[in-house]
Amino acid sequence: MTASVEPTTPSNGKGITPKRCSTAGCNVPSDLVLVDPAGVFEPACFTHAEWLEDERALSRRKGGLKLLGKLRRFTFLTVDDLGELATPEDAQRRAQIICDATATGKLGSAAASVALKALESWLKAHESVALERRLAELEARVAERDAQTERARRARAPGPSTEYLSRQSKP
Ligand SMILES: [Zn+2]
Repeated sequence: MTASVEPTTPSNGKGITPKRCSTAGCNVPSDLVLVDPAGVFEPACFTHAEWLEDERALSRRKGGLKLLGKLRRFTFLTVDDLGELATPEDAQRRAQIICDATATGKLGSAAASVALKALESWLKAHESVALERRLAELEARVAERDAQTERARRARAPGPSTEYLSRQSKP
């Protein structure tokens, strides 16, 4: 058996179908028996495969980290997590991040509801500031248009136009 490069799964689709784990007394089903891709060790199940020692250690560690995460208190979010808050879109993004963090257990619900309430206030304040700015802009535009209309009217009729008035009063 030559060593072949099979980085993903130690497949048993190479013509060899091992029936048994090489460890005595292990009676795993034959479809769970793995083949050493390097051809060094006898076929074995995941638990007994000598060439999978590192993988087993890793999976134990992953399980350990998961457990640790469950026991750990909330870590809260950093400004890096949230990004800046300058526009309503930022607020929307922050709300989404806060919701996700709460759902995944990174953020406690108490902190989340405070944070969301603060975002809500920010949005309201932002909205009224934006509205005020928009209103001022519109007022300025209306004033500018009024001034234009007035200038145009004066240009068309320099001085009091008696002719215009008299013509209009006739039937
Ligand atoms: Zn086994």
